[in-house]
Amino acid sequence: MSNVLSRFNPSLATLPVYVPGRPIEEVAREHGLDPASIIKLASNENPFGPSPKALVAMETVLRQLHLYPDGSASVLKRALAESLGVRTENLILGNGSNELLEFVGHAMMCPGVEVVVPEFCFAVYPIVTALFGATLVTVPAVDFAADIDGLIRAITPRTGVLFLANPNNPTGTRTSRENILRLLREVPKDVLIVMDEAYIEFLEDPVDLVPQILSGQQTNLLLCRTFSKIFGLAGLRLGYGIASPALISAFEKVRQPFNINSIAQAGALAALQDHDHQARTRDNNRVGVEYFQSAFKAMGLPYVPSHANFVLAKTGRGGAVFAALQQRGIITRPMGSYGLTDWLRISVGTPAENARCLIALREVLAAMPAV
Ligand SMILES: *Cc1c(COP(=O)(O)O)cnc(C)c1O
Repeated sequence: MSNVLSRFNPSLATLPVYVPGRPIEEVAREHGLDPASIIKLASNENPFGPSPKALVAMETVLRQLHLYPDGSASVLKRALAESLGVRTENLILGNGSNELLEFVGHAMMCPGVEVVVPEFCFAVYPIVTALFGATLVTVPAVDFAADIDGLIRAITPRTGVLFLANPNNPTGTRTSRENILRLLREVPKDVLIVMDEAYIEFLEDPVDLVPQILSGQQTNLLLCRTFSKIFGLAGLRLGYGIASPALISAFEKVRQPFNINSIAQAGALAALQDHDHQARTRDNNRVGVEYFQSAFKAMGLPYVPSHANFVLAKTGRGGAVFAALQQRGIITRPMGSYGLTDWLRISVGTPAENARCLIALREVLAAMPAV
């Protein structure tokens, strides 16, 4: 019998599926828990919530929702450009930085194109690559970190795109200044380098690649950033790309006219100016990463030293540990889909959340039958 599914894009048949962190409401229902008692340390969200200034700004837009949003998000873009020291022509906005990754797919990927990624890269890169029928080339990691020489060596005349997150999710590793600059120098200029900087605001001493773009030296570089992490607006869906004006106008062609809704434009504008909220989040994160890492050290749990707002720890049987923590109202992230079945990723929460998570983790590990 004929079936409409047979007409679907053949890439969809083997497309890997993104497994998000479990939502609080769903876990509450499943385990008969009070949603208010559940803590979510699963998706690297901001434990302090959105900036209070953003909340006020978003409320004031509600009455204007009968109007289409500003299709070019001009007010937000001007503020963003000013805060970054770039021109609005250097910016493109996405419905989450995930949408920017999809723009790259639309604009550059098709069967025959190779896409180079490091092992343990963010799950969305392989998904976008598969969606557009391009070929993923995975370069083995060294101590969980991207092997920059390996990435450079993996480039062929068929390579269209190279993705690198710095710091990386889910490992929390970072790439040194020297290695980043070498990568930018050595990758041919007809290969797009997507530098995913979702966690850059958590770094004490970030490598600023904006000057490389402004000088016109790096016409093949797209920096991707987001309001989902330090800005505490993951539910709003807003990310931005920074690149040369030529690259930006090429990507603009694949962007839907109203991809950034009015609430997101207002909320992000206010959040951008709330430096206290960002500083408080950064300080809390530094303390939280240190807290988890020193506890793991004391417990004899291997972990990957983190430069982001989460820690990847080798608990053994990550799926089982995740399930046992979830029963206790703590949502973390098992890493089986990354091939890290013995590992668990824990996002940094408030000090109280971190302490509760650690107490539960100790209990769970003590009760775990030996294999
Ligand atoms: C969280 C994250 C993002 C952000 O995604 P949004 O779509 O902006 O919410 C992008 N890249 C990496 C590596 C991430 O971990």
